[in-house]
Amino acid sequence: MTRKKVVVIGGGFGGAAAAIKARALLGSEHTVTLADRNREVHLCGMNPMLIAGQRDPRRTTRSLGVLGNRGINVINAQVDEIDFKNHALKAGDGRIDYDYLVIAAGAEYDWGATPGARDAYSFYDIASARRLRRRLSRMKRGHISIGVASAPYKCPPAPYETAMILDWFFRQQGNRQDFEITVSTPEPGPVPVAGPDAMSAIMRAFDRKGIQLKTGVGVASVRSDGREVAYSDGSSIGVDVAITIPHHIPAAIVRGSSLIGPSGWVKVNSQTLETSEKDVFAIGDVNAVPMANGKGIPKAGVFASAEGETVGYNIAATINESEPVDFPGEGYCFIGFGGETSALVVGNFLAEPKPEVRLTAPTARGMKSRERFERDWKRFRV
Ligand SMILES: Cc1cc2nc3c(=O)[nH]c(=O)nc-3n(C[C@H](O)[C@H](O)[C@H](O)COP(=O)(O)OP(=O)(O)OC[C@H]3O[C@@H](n4cnc5c(N)ncnc54)[C@H](O)[C@@H]3O)c2cc1C
Repeated sequence: MTRKKVVVIGGGFGGAAAAIKARALLGSEHTVTLADRNREVHLCGMNPMLIAGQRDPRRTTRSLGVLGNRGINVINAQVDEIDFKNHALKAGDGRIDYDYLVIAAGAEYDWGATPGARDAYSFYDIASARRLRRRLSRMKRGHISIGVASAPYKCPPAPYETAMILDWFFRQQGNRQDFEITVSTPEPGPVPVAGPDAMSAIMRAFDRKGIQLKTGVGVASVRSDGREVAYSDGSSIGVDVAITIPHHIPAAIVRGSSLIGPSGWVKVNSQTLETSEKDVFAIGDVNAVPMANGKGIPKAGVFASAEGETVGYNIAATINESEPVDFPGEGYCFIGFGGETSALVVGNFLAEPKPEVRLTAPTARGMKSRERFERDWKRFRV
């Protein structure tokens, strides 16, 4: 039997799941290689709790080197170029040949698209979340804005749950009355993919908690002193802390390549995650898996992971000459309603004629399952 080389770019949710699944199903004559420029990855889903002092960053970090124990060849390197014609990657001075390539390089942030936002605050990467944590822990009063620059962005519920976690945090401190919290989104309401009932439920929770919501506007810029947020409709508000969810773009390795489709993200077959290049798959945040409503499936770790499992399984099935499977499109995102309860946005996102997605009630049990998710993630079980 010919020895096959399976190569994965990126060791986040998607890449790790693809490599683990392929490795588990393939004989030892085949190799599975995972290349990532970082040795460790962070669970960004915990950042909203981290900024409120509810998480220690050490608990939300995992080391990719551990995958070596599972027979995966982990390479700590930046992949600079993909040579589709010769089935090879360029990484520094090295070359990595592949028979099957999985691109799981994620999304990056285009801070330049929102002038002033980077110098203000965010929680969309671990460094900015730590900085925001320090600022919030010293704050006694003021107006905090959480604004989405543009859609799509990672984890659609994140701005809303972050506002509700901050509301809870200030209530715990006994000084909620000294804070104003405003959330803004370019979308028509919170988490539109979950449907009108979910949107109303989140809006009702905002009313109860005294959180203001501005819809249909993206953050256009933040003044250089961080004290004013300007929106895409020309309006602006004065704030003390401007938190921005930045404009997202595909990872540099695919940007401008032939793989990018009309959505601006890597175009894939929604069942198989195949790209326009033979034996090349793209999973997770880097792609756009079209739903029946024309939008892409949410950029979330659970989908990246499920897509990775599908692709890892199917590459092994091709090599082992067994039956492939389709990506089911089912999944969920957590949405915290404060520090003690969590709900789910859950359903079949690829259902026809429209996504079948709903919001569950926020419960303490939901928060427990979130903690379980965190522990499972740490052990590469998700
Ligand atoms: C604040 C926040 C909250 C979130 N909450 C949730 C949640 O509750 N639930 C949920 O499911 N998801 C959540 N997400 C989204 C989730 O984190 C992402 O959807 C998920 O990480 C995407 O996985 P991925 O594998 O596609 O990409 P990533 O996890 O971004 O991994 C990409 C990897 O590729 C590597 N890479 C990129 N380019 C190269 C290159 N050229 N060479 C080598 N390596 C490269 C990077 O170093 C990185 O490790 C949240 C995200 C944020 C920011």
